Amino acid sequence: EAMPLERLTMLVVPAKEEPTLLVPRLEAPRVEERPDLFKLQVWNETDNPVALVAGLVGPRITMAIGDHTWSRFLLALQDELPARRWLPASMITGPLRASKDAAEIDCLARAAAAADRVANAIHAGEIPLVGRSEAEVAGDIGRRLVAEGHDKVAFVIVASGPNSASPHHEPSDRVIGRDEMVVCDFGGVLDGYCSDTTRTVVTGEPTPEMQEMYAVVAEAHAAGVAAATVGTACSEVDAAARDIIADAGFGEFFPHRTGHGIGRDVHEEPYLVDGNKTPLEAGNAFSVEPGIYLPGRFGARLEDIVVATEDGPMALNGADHGLVVV
Ligand code: ZN
Ligand code: ZN
Repeated sequence: EAMPLERLTMLVVPAKEEPTLLVPRLEAPRVEERPDLFKLQVWNETDNPVALVAGLVGPRITMAIGDHTWSRFLLALQDELPARRWLPASMITGPLRASKDAAEIDCLARAAAAADRVANAIHAGEIPLVGRSEAEVAGDIGRRLVAEGHDKVAFVIVASGPNSASPHHEPSDRVIGRDEMVVCDFGGVLDGYCSDTTRTVVTGEPTPEMQEMYAVVAEAHAAGVAAATVGTACSEVDAAARDIIADAGFGEFFPHRTGHGIGRDVHEEPYLVDGNKTPLEAGNAFSVEPGIYLPGRFGARLEDIVVATEDGPMALNGADHGLVVV
């Protein structure tokens, strides 16, 4: 994994010839050399790495560049290589990465199981909520993710009370009170693959309105998972969850897609969103995460990672799906 730096590291992969990994001299000791896979080219502090890449590219017209490559490198390459055609590399890597093999699914399952153990700890009250700030609780969840086997924490959302109505709330110094909904959405990276799960809990007795709303979220989630069969269009999975929320009168309060692919990135193809007619294939791994968010009041989301298999949808997360009182 290359450190994102102003010093360019770039893997140049011609369609037919051998790939070359270009790295700055001080990063070279971190590279495990694999002559069977790529040539290593080290550049020194006074070299121009963009010119070196241009030399490797040669007269080729069409190039795909990594989606996360810094624009300063792309702009410099475009200066160095005028009149070429540039495409996002995800056009090639996206479909390859969306289809997981057995070893990748095993990594995702182990990451999901580790995240489940953290969810179970929240449900069991082992991570106290009331009287502590969202940020403190988020810190605890992050440490638990690592203690349960993740190599690093990718993100932690703890959204309490009215903050639970903001889907991507940043954990704040707000102190969690009693009788509040708390959305906990967290994930990390384990052996290069990501976890991502959400559980909503309530710090006391839920009101009938909270229970009714949560029941709709849980029903939409179950419908989304059940719909995620091989051959079903991504948009249909989104619709299966969304229709239940809309029929219950909460349609305008579910502002995001039903799910996203997951693998080496937390968000990658396939996206379960209206308009995406791509059918699910065996080996696709993705989240199913409907939510309802009532602005200024409270919200709830329920998220599992699911794999489409020839035998039907296989959920990798199994922590309690109910509105657990903690
Ligand atoms: Zn999530
Ligand atoms: Zn997610």
